[in-house]
Amino acid sequence: MASTKYIFVTGGVTSSLGKGIIAASLGKLLQAKGLSVAIQKFDPYINIDPGTLNPYEHGECYVTDDGAETDLDLGHYERFLNVPTSQANNITTGRIYHSVITKERQGEFLGKTVQVVPHITNEIKHNFELLGDKEGLDVVITEIGGCVGDIEALPFIEALRQFRWEKPKEDIIAIHLTLVPYLKAAGELKTKPTQHSVKMLSEAGVQPDILIARSERKIPKDIREKIGRFCNVRPECVINSLDAKTIYDVPLLMKREKLDERAMELLKLEPKSDTKLEPWKDFVNKLKHPKTEITVGLVGKYVELHDAYKSISESFIHAGAINECKVNVEWIQSDDLTEETISEIFPNLDAILVAPGFGTRGVEGKLKAIKYARENKVPFFGICLGMQCTVVEFARNVLGLSDAASSEWEMESSNPVIDLMEEQKDVTQKGGTMRLGAYDCKVKEGTLAHRIYGTDLVSERHRHRYEFNNDYLEQFEKAGMVASGINPANGLVEIVEIPDHPFYFGSQFHPELKSTVLAPQPIFVEFIKAGKEYAKAHNRLHEIA
Ligand code: GLN
Repeated sequence: MASTKYIFVTGGVTSSLGKGIIAASLGKLLQAKGLSVAIQKFDPYINIDPGTLNPYEHGECYVTDDGAETDLDLGHYERFLNVPTSQANNITTGRIYHSVITKERQGEFLGKTVQVVPHITNEIKHNFELLGDKEGLDVVITEIGGCVGDIEALPFIEALRQFRWEKPKEDIIAIHLTLVPYLKAAGELKTKPTQHSVKMLSEAGVQPDILIARSERKIPKDIREKIGRFCNVRPECVINSLDAKTIYDVPLLMKREKLDERAMELLKLEPKSDTKLEPWKDFVNKLKHPKTEITVGLVGKYVELHDAYKSISESFIHAGAINECKVNVEWIQSDDLTEETISEIFPNLDAILVAPGFGTRGVEGKLKAIKYARENKVPFFGICLGMQCTVVEFARNVLGLSDAASSEWEMESSNPVIDLMEEQKDVTQKGGTMRLGAYDCKVKEGTLAHRIYGTDLVSERHRHRYEFNNDYLEQFEKAGMVASGINPANGLVEIVEIPDHPFYFGSQFHPELKSTVLAPQPIFVEFIKAGKEYAKAHNRLHEIA
């Protein structure tokens, strides 16, 4: 079997240039050549994983099937490649040090001084290869987080330098992504920041093989040549990543720029098949030419940072495209929701989603939003905390349990309809201790959930500590809220719905984590469809010419 080929993606000049999207796009293009590909991300921060970070710091925490709390870029990898990721796809400085320090305590380095070089860099290199070795992949793409020049990225760049020195030349390439800004006053595209960034990378011993220059304006041939000459990169390997309308355009733009061909030439890789990108193009075409549009209210407490709900907004895009419908998202801060603001904003919404979250802030606003959706029969979808809030709202306003609450917010409530899971009661450590990852859910026949999934057993991903309190189940079902999805192993309520409502769905799990371009998540697909029907019934489903 041929050895795994390695592609490294680093970034310079500024963060947020879209290394994750470039890595995912190249992965997609190589996959279309019949190659097996995985993408992994190495993050320079010291947290073991982003699970303990506030979403305002780092955006959404993406959870994998095996229960790893990871960087949101892994979501892009899954959405683009349609291949599940796992803990092995996301490594942080914290994880590397933790492993080295544990080995030191076990006496693995007895007699030696443990140092960044070689111990930390060896551990990083070992992790570079883990995925490829384990799965016998054709290509592993490694994205290195942060920017070249950051102090904390240094050990990763040094590990990459050594890794290149140790391996045959055609087994590894380095791609560097930079910014080529357009200076309006000078009327010019400027290459100097790119030159400096490449210089810094070269000083660390890594000469990039391919340069990807992100720009607002097309970079003409002479400027590409100039970049190539100053940065010591072949001109045909200077690739322009022009700002795109949607991230889903990027694989097609990179194909036009021949990024896949250049990478394959350098790595001496032959295509195994040519599957074309028709389904992807189909999706992009539908996305760009919707026939109708609706507005969905996304009620959450981190709405100022859209990245905090990345997988949800991407799921809307996938579900919208398949429904040939543009989904406009109205970001609604749950903190300051009052009856007044609700009566101003909500009548214009065609569907309402109440987002996941933690703690008490914003909960009262979420409860008000849910009451509105339930009473006005607006299509509604509550995820995780959103589902728990639907249960509390129903308990308070339908069952008449006015003090009903989740014990996350009120330890002393006499009606804890949402309660801490038994297995969580002795948990004191914060990192990685929630109920995490994929669990089975048995779907009850004759329910909305069953109509959506079209099957009896599904598996979805979780991230929570609290659950529906089954002591109340009978009372809820009698009053019209049905538990239509149950974990077969422990009886935990996974889905609630109200049959006497056009679309009212709450899930304890996070279905948004499994929506991909080629397999849009079915709850989202039906939710958007219900939003279209609602808009139509209210005579506002505009046809887009
Ligand atoms: N805070 C709630 C819990 O821990 C919900 C979590 C979430 O929305 N992801 O159960």
